[in-house]
Amino acid sequence: MDTSRHRKKALFIDRDGVIVIEDQIDSFEKIIYKPHVFEALREISRKTDFELVLVSNQDGVGTPSFPFEAFEGPMERILSTLAGEGIVFDDINVDYSLPEDCCPGRKPGTAMLSGYLDGSYDMASSFMVGDRLTDMQLAQNIGAKGIWYTPERMEIPEGYRDAIALSTSSWLDIASYLTGDGSCAHRTASISRDTKETRISLDIDLDGTGCGRIVTGIGFFDHMLDQVVRHSRCDISGSVEGDLYVDCHHTVEDTAIVLGEAVLTALGEKRGIERYGFDIVPMDDTAAVAAIDFSGRPEFMQEFSFRYDYIGDFPTELIRHFFRSFSSAARCNLYLEATDGGDSHHTAEALFKAFARALRKAVRRIPGDNAISSTKGVL
Ligand SMILES: [Mg+2]
Repeated sequence: MDTSRHRKKALFIDRDGVIVIEDQIDSFEKIIYKPHVFEALREISRKTDFELVLVSNQDGVGTPSFPFEAFEGPMERILSTLAGEGIVFDDINVDYSLPEDCCPGRKPGTAMLSGYLDGSYDMASSFMVGDRLTDMQLAQNIGAKGIWYTPERMEIPEGYRDAIALSTSSWLDIASYLTGDGSCAHRTASISRDTKETRISLDIDLDGTGCGRIVTGIGFFDHMLDQVVRHSRCDISGSVEGDLYVDCHHTVEDTAIVLGEAVLTALGEKRGIERYGFDIVPMDDTAAVAAIDFSGRPEFMQEFSFRYDYIGDFPTELIRHFFRSFSSAARCNLYLEATDGGDSHHTAEALFKAFARALRKAVRRIPGDNAISSTKGVL
């Protein structure tokens, strides 16, 4: 008889480097949460029957260099903030010893977790989320599987292949893995496009933090694309080799096409997204408005003009062409407007920022919603 169905499962979770940044957190100012940790743990709490168990080494708590009071306040703040989001730990295990004490409860020792090893828990179906290989050793020592959460994706070292079930730099991947729900996973796309005019490769992660650069060799245009990356909060990296000896036209146009294709590909079926996004961005002597609808239908409407035909040696007419090309490739409605008479650089920058912030809102996923936001059932 299979008794594993009747036994409990635990999700053991390290604190530092996993829920909050790795540090000696002895003041409230040092509490910095990892990206998407709330969203992911809420999904895991809602959709799985794992008991949540905190397992943390806190070196030397109670010593003069790390008084207990300095540990306690921030710890309570972290737990109460998580609880406010519906994430409540069933059990908390903290070891305060120093490495040289060689305490049996200190990870990867198992003494703190002996209560889970009496057969009432299905350890083979339980997981340990940690950022260090000692956490993965602990997983192995208690018969659970390891989820190795590291700032960057790392190659699993020899000797840990059996212990580590998942290696990732993203809490969304962890939620997706544990819930079996792909809607939590990062939405990414990689697009390459080679023509006689341009060679472009571009990677996008819609669920990023605004990292990366698109380098085209056109200084002003790169500056505008930087705004798109930062303000959309998408991670976007790309390289563009265009026929700049002709002029900027093909490079700008094809960059927009590839960016649009990448967004469209990463959105997939567009399940659970806001679909509409809009924003107003003031910038000194101008203000820009952007509105996007990922309707599946390309349409570009605009109401803006530039005081000058060139910003440096960049033709302002290409800004209009960039956005039109994007809306065509991403199959979205894009509306852009800016007040007249402002400095042309300000007008352009406000437009790109407004566009990016509207994009950010339109692609945002609504937590718990897996529906396609259309009465037609398709976008
Ligand atoms: Mg850690």
